[in-house]
Amino acid sequence: MSSLPARPAGRLWPRWGMRPVTRISLGLTALLISLLLVADLVLGVVPGHGQYERMLRKRVAENLAVQLTSLLQSGDHAALGKTIQQVLARNAEVRSISVHRHDGALVMQRGELPSLAERSQQQASDLNHLRVPILAGRQLWGEVEMTFVPLASGGLRQWLAQPGVQLLVVLGLGGFLLSHAYLSRAMQYLNPSATIPDRVRRAYDNLTEGLLILDQQARIVLANAAFRRMHPAAQVDLNGQPIQSLRWLLNGRDEGQPEVPPWERTLHSAENVTDEVLRLPRPGEPDLHLLVTSAPVVDDRGKVRGCMVSFNDETALHRSHADLRQALAEVEHAKAEVDAKNQELQRLASRDPMTGCYNRRAFFEAAEVAFEAARAAHSGLCCIMSDIDHFKSFNDTYGHAVGDQVIQVVARALTGGIRPTDILCRYGGEEFCIVLPGSTPAVAAEVAERLRAEIESHAQSAIRGTQVRRITSSFGVASLLTGAKTLKELIDHADQALYRSKESGRNRVTVHERELA
Ligand code: GH3
Ligand code: MG
Ligand code: MG
Repeated sequence: MSSLPARPAGRLWPRWGMRPVTRISLGLTALLISLLLVADLVLGVVPGHGQYERMLRKRVAENLAVQLTSLLQSGDHAALGKTIQQVLARNAEVRSISVHRHDGALVMQRGELPSLAERSQQQASDLNHLRVPILAGRQLWGEVEMTFVPLASGGLRQWLAQPGVQLLVVLGLGGFLLSHAYLSRAMQYLNPSATIPDRVRRAYDNLTEGLLILDQQARIVLANAAFRRMHPAAQVDLNGQPIQSLRWLLNGRDEGQPEVPPWERTLHSAENVTDEVLRLPRPGEPDLHLLVTSAPVVDDRGKVRGCMVSFNDETALHRSHADLRQALAEVEHAKAEVDAKNQELQRLASRDPMTGCYNRRAFFEAAEVAFEAARAAHSGLCCIMSDIDHFKSFNDTYGHAVGDQVIQVVARALTGGIRPTDILCRYGGEEFCIVLPGSTPAVAAEVAERLRAEIESHAQSAIRGTQVRRITSSFGVASLLTGAKTLKELIDHADQALYRSKESGRNRVTVHERELA
């Protein structure tokens, strides 16, 4: 069994690095020469070496026979001999010439006679030995017999000199050059997409991803159905078009992506590009969001012959992301609104609607905490009770609405005169209670005096629409240091001091008596 060298799969013969056009031209030339050889075998169209020589030699002999006929008729034997001698001298390959009468008698013989053995082999005419009849009118007079130097067989030059060989060489060379030139030119006009069979195309059409196959010159060899559906401008025959002509595709860019499109980078430097974002504007439709992947197509020698580009449509995903983001933002917004409403509700639940001061429930919650903290820390904490003087008479004189206004004006004066850490509450109809964490009785009394003076001097003028009489308030101050065990007790002490203020003429501040003691 002969062991042939293994051939790479899918290849009929080694390519020796030839371009396809060269291979096809060689094949065509080989076909042409084979056809010529077959035609020669069947019809003998190519003149062979012997045939040509025989033709030439026969012509020499026939010419001689014609000359000899006229000389023989005139009986000029000397001229006959001379003519024969001249033919011998002119044609080096003529060995001998003899003239015979038709009965076989030798009339004349010149040149080197072939040996008897040779002569016996040369009964009939062959390439080296020719017999041509000499005619006298219509009758055979005799014949002229010529022997030639035998044709040397072999030798490249002689072989090449044959017209048949020359014909084959010229046809072969010319055929190759012409077909090569023609194919090279024709290839430029050939649709490159024709290289992909229809069934392969149909298979690619089933893909959901858009797919482009480009040749080395970035011309489209294949654009599948999904790619053609991507854009209105893509719904034409794209085969053979340079990708640079697809302006709509080149216009697509996304922030932060390289300037040079992925396919150009792949064709230029065999770069494998994966998942590059491409955003394509579309007329009357939302932008197309694509993930582009580009891979080189290389030949046996690793040279880039083209590239395969896939376009993954992420528009729906992108849109659902955007929808989700918007829904999230709406939820955040709604949550903020709910939070604000809750805060407002909480504020409303803890405040007195008329004055904005803490209501009693919220006040006790906050004041208890402050009271316990102060007791634990042995720090100061004071309480101020305040009541509008002769408030009933405002109601009675100016009406309930003006009475409400008086309560609001006094509340504003109190709110503006305390620290944010102090806790102010509308304790009853026109009664207010303030807890001042960290304050000594002296400071609290100072604060109360400031509030009293403020109401006395500004509250009256703050009433809108009606000229009311002077508004004043009485104050009572108590401190944790008086020995109150509970918040309630502390408030009671302040209330007692307030009572003293009322008793002693109103519009004044009284500090709880134990404090004074
Ligand atoms: P004193 O100087 O002794 O405190 O006299 P006074 O008139 O302020 O005291 P009194 O407790 O007799 O009067 C309080 C009045 O306040 C009784 C009530 O009708 C009135 N009042 C209570 N709440 C409101 C309110 O929200 N609006 C109005 N306009 N009046 C109220
Ligand atoms: Mg009162
Ligand atoms: Mg009062």
